[in-house]
Amino acid sequence: MSDDKAVVLTVLSKTVWSDSLFSFTTTRPDGFRFEAGQFVRLGVNPSKLAANQGKDAPDETIFRAYSVVSSPYDEALEFFSVVVPDGAFTSQLKDLQVGDTLYLNTTPFGFLTLSRYQEPKPNTLWLLATGTGLAPFLSMLQDLYTWQQYDNIVLAYSARTVSELAYQDKIHQIADDFTSLVDNPAKFIYVPIVTREAVAGCLNQRLPILIANGELEKTAGITFDQDCHAMLCGNPQMVDDTKEALKAKGLTMNRRGVGNIAVENYW
Ligand SMILES: Cc1cc2nc3c(=O)[nH]c(=O)nc-3n(C[C@H](O)[C@H](O)[C@H](O)COP(=O)(O)OP(=O)(O)OC[C@H]3O[C@@H](n4cnc5c(N)ncnc54)[C@H](O)[C@@H]3O)c2cc1C
Repeated sequence: MSDDKAVVLTVLSKTVWSDSLFSFTTTRPDGFRFEAGQFVRLGVNPSKLAANQGKDAPDETIFRAYSVVSSPYDEALEFFSVVVPDGAFTSQLKDLQVGDTLYLNTTPFGFLTLSRYQEPKPNTLWLLATGTGLAPFLSMLQDLYTWQQYDNIVLAYSARTVSELAYQDKIHQIADDFTSLVDNPAKFIYVPIVTREAVAGCLNQRLPILIANGELEKTAGITFDQDCHAMLCGNPQMVDDTKEALKAKGLTMNRRGVGNIAVENYW
């Protein structure tokens, strides 16, 4: 993907969560606005990465879609990335160093945003993520609007192993910070899920199963009622199966602003 509108970003920090997951922050271009939950097109040019200096790296910018992790009000931008073995983009991106250059198409995309919901009115918000699909939900959770609008927010975040559950401290910190900033904030329930090992304090099955057998509702202490908003993001198989499990509970896809379920597939 080439991009005429791309502007330069500078990498400010990098956090490595596991062999296959990392996050990074960058400068935010003046005037760049987005809504929590949207994604952008990020570009990397292998010949511009410090780790590639002196190597014969191609001088061609590759672009991919990335959800913004940071709040719409932060000075910096933050992103959360997988490392795909031999992936054209991430096998370059994983070598990022502070000070490196990236590119940003400053048009934000996507409708996995709370403003898409006209009916039903905000009541309980379910945020259901696998892997890096957590990214747009972190942005929503760092927006005061989210905490003001809803009575309950349930974040269910699924990874294969406990070492792949990123942002654990930050999730709790965000909840503490935002509940103290708002009068009558939403009640926040966090449900970590690990599918390939048994870990105390985490559920251990795939999200669609946990919905079908009622375990997610039992753990959260809240049911999927007709008035809830349910957002799904990440692995397309999880999104499809979870969507079906929610429909079996009587929930409907959100179309033209009406309905419960909104989804975003990452591939
Ligand atoms: C709307 C949207 C938002 C996205 N936001 C993010 C994001 O915030 N963070 C992010 O890491 N990726 C995100 N992606 C995926 C991203 O665009 C790239 O696919 C990813 O960076 C891999 O690029 P690649 O060239 O290395 O491999 P690709 O050739 O693009 O992908 C190869 C394969 O890797 C797997 N894969 C791709 N993305 C992921 C992923 N995120 N997690 C696990 N496996 C994956 C799939 O099997 C895919 O077929 C998003 C995609 C879309 C459509």
